[in-house]
Amino acid sequence: MEQGIVLRGVGGFYRVLLPDGRTVECRPRGRFRKDGVVLLAGDRVCVELQRDGTGVIVAVDPRRTELRRPAVANVEQVVAVMAVAAPPPNFLLLDRLLTVAEAEGLDPVICWTKADLCPPGHGEDLGAPYRVAGYRVILTSSRTGQGLDELRDALRDKVSTFAGPSGAGKSSLLNALDPAFGRDTGEISRKLGRGRHTTRVVELLPLPGGGLVADTPGFSQLDVRHIPKAELGRFMREIDRVRGECRFPGCLHRSEPGCAVRDAVEDGRIHPRRYRHYLELLREIEEWEARRYS
Ligand code: ZN
Repeated sequence: MEQGIVLRGVGGFYRVLLPDGRTVECRPRGRFRKDGVVLLAGDRVCVELQRDGTGVIVAVDPRRTELRRPAVANVEQVVAVMAVAAPPPNFLLLDRLLTVAEAEGLDPVICWTKADLCPPGHGEDLGAPYRVAGYRVILTSSRTGQGLDELRDALRDKVSTFAGPSGAGKSSLLNALDPAFGRDTGEISRKLGRGRHTTRVVELLPLPGGGLVADTPGFSQLDVRHIPKAELGRFMREIDRVRGECRFPGCLHRSEPGCAVRDAVEDGRIHPRRYRHYLELLREIEEWEARRYS
């Protein structure tokens, strides 16, 4: 009996990565189908190796997390990919991504791409508010190789998925991590690939230095409305750090007296843009709640 991780499943067969780095094509035990168990990439399984070199999946561990798009189990980390330029950064999207990741129990990492496109120091400036807030920030360039070792280090021994707007360079980044991945990056191949992507199954790619990353960027359910509004502050690190000092327990950090979060904005411990985005997400949640209960 061997422990392994499902890398992908196609047509009832699953490719399972074993601890020694080998992969085995496996069938699930017949009972799984009867019980309606559907295995996902990322599932941690028990495999019985057969004489013909294939395997039978006999047990699957309970999932710690489950993403739907891409459908991957046990993702631990979301790498929020954002270009320093071309296209210009979308900070609201980035803050939304970080917040939703935290709310899902996933560890977010911020990866700035295309560092070669901005003047020296600019990339560091972009990352500074996040670094101060307590997020891991990596400044990379697929072209010059800057930051790739640091990114590999962040991905090591974890199951990760990349997320971010189109054009941020997610595919180039995967290719830069390992050219063997051969992801499409060209405009034409992307067009051709679009139809294919809708039917393609997710695959977890083993990284040369250890760790697995989903080949399909995703994490597209960026809805905050399932987050209770009083909890929103928990999922923005610099707000979470001070919100315990607010005078009122249910403080929404908007206009309540004695709000430690607003104090922190005023004295510069919380970046004003991050706070604005907190208010923006809070408003979304409230609008949703108002519609739901009216
Ligand atoms: Zn407050």
